[in-house]
Amino acid sequence: MLRLENLHVGYGEISVLRGVSLTVPTGAITALIGANGAGKSTTLNTISGLLKPTQGEILLEGTRIDGLQPEQVVRLGVVQVPEGRKVFRNLTVHETLVMGGYIHADKAAVAKDIARMFEAFPRLAERRTQLSGTLSGGEQQMLAFARALVARPKLLLLDEPSMGLAPRIVAEMAGLIRSIRAEGMTVLIVEQNAALALGVADEGHVLESGTIGLSSPAKDLLANDRVREAYLGL
Ligand code: ATP
Repeated sequence: MLRLENLHVGYGEISVLRGVSLTVPTGAITALIGANGAGKSTTLNTISGLLKPTQGEILLEGTRIDGLQPEQVVRLGVVQVPEGRKVFRNLTVHETLVMGGYIHADKAAVAKDIARMFEAFPRLAERRTQLSGTLSGGEQQMLAFARALVARPKLLLLDEPSMGLAPRIVAEMAGLIRSIRAEGMTVLIVEQNAALALGVADEGHVLESGTIGLSSPAKDLLANDRVREAYLGL
């Protein structure tokens, strides 16, 4: 689905990614883990067109997308759920979901998808006329997720979906991510919560010092002594 080749990205003088290469296979969940500040969000923001690489290529189904505007990347079916559940505080829950479907001309289909989201997330349904900014943290994360799904992405980019959530909600989130894959969507998840990310993923990659230090089936990374010590706190 997606291939990153030798990506170099930085902020002015600061270089963060120094030659990141990885593949996100179609229909699978791929996890990118790494320490605080390793460059996980930078990687997702580069894929979604918010940041421009100084070197390297991003290929979506074989076609280069680095250099495209974020809007064009979304229209190609790559949708990001940003870190810290950024929802528009002054839109209602329902308006937020309508906005999620803005790229689709078939508004009847969007309305059906929104109805499906309200079935999947009854708490959002109860709060459909409530302003998004007044939702709890967990509810806002659910809303950010649902908004992305209404866009019907082929590749979903998840930035720290567990951030700030209670353990019970994190478990719900894991179930939700698995159900997305069951629907045939491809997912790239970045997480500081390596246990969650590797628990749901098929393949895992470890971002260290600006490059991919280790790539393996996720279950092998969960069993890897170095990963257990550095990222799982075991
Ligand atoms: P976290 O899990 O803490 O979000 P991360 O792995 O996602 O970490 P990034 O957010 O990608 O890390 O940040 C990587 C590095 O780039 C950090 O050192 C960060 O301070 C720096 N950085 C991020 N955004 C900017 C920016 N807008 N300007 C300058 N430096 C930045």
